[in-house]
Amino acid sequence: MTNLGMVYLVGAGPGDPELLTRKAERLLRTADVVVYDRLVSAGVLELIPSGATQVFAGKVARGKHMPQEEINDHLVRLARAGHTTVRLKGGDPFIFGRGGEEAEHLARLGIPYEVVPGITAATGCSAYAGIPLTHRGLATGVRFITGHYQSGHDLDADWQSMADPNTTLVIYMGRTNAERLSASLIRAGLSANTPAAIIYEGTLPMQHTELTTLAYLPARLAEADRAVPTLLIIGKVASLANNLSWKGTALEETAPIGSISSQ
Ligand code: SAH
Repeated sequence: MTNLGMVYLVGAGPGDPELLTRKAERLLRTADVVVYDRLVSAGVLELIPSGATQVFAGKVARGKHMPQEEINDHLVRLARAGHTTVRLKGGDPFIFGRGGEEAEHLARLGIPYEVVPGITAATGCSAYAGIPLTHRGLATGVRFITGHYQSGHDLDADWQSMADPNTTLVIYMGRTNAERLSASLIRAGLSANTPAAIIYEGTLPMQHTELTTLAYLPARLAEADRAVPTLLIIGKVASLANNLSWKGTALEETAPIGSISSQ
């Protein structure tokens, strides 16, 4: 009987290939098969040796994609055929990446696996946009949330606890429901003038940051109409991008937000 192959659930980071961990890079170079998502950047995929089989599991919010069950089954088949498999996921596999579900499936069937963390969009994009997620005097904590909800499930967010002016909110997949997010946060008491940053294609050469306010956020997103990865950061810290945007990428301010000084 063939020995079971190992499955590595690997975080590819937010885009810039230099943000890969050394472990992720080593595993990519030695994998028999790499199963990757849509969000994995071209620069990262270039590191896969030509001898390895590449499988696109293109997960998109809408439209065609490989169902999660099919991805799970595929990983099991590869492992049972003895292949060393890298399941490459954008950012960190355990942050809004369904890596937990894949791990559960592998564990249930006794397939050996390891998890390699990656730099998640929140930390990667904020660093490259010059937005410290916590900052003395501006934010004592940070919360990562998703703006995308499982179909059929209503938004079960606890708006009251999220509308905290001292907590930075980082919203993944926030484009579709931005209107609702913004309105609910304002209704729960967060100031309509709270600074908000929209980061498009964070850490990639095309990265673009737009600074606006919580109230203007939905209108700005509606106007952008871009099918590129987009991260939202809401909180006083967003305004720090005015001074700390070091990367030389475009920074656009589309609503007058007073500069907020930090003590
Ligand atoms: N596991 C991933 C997140 C997957 S959810 C991680 O840890 O980063 C996908 C969402 O992440 C996108 O809709 C977008 O909101 C965000 N995202 C991922 N990469 C991004 C990037 N380079 N720039 C902006 N947003 C990004």
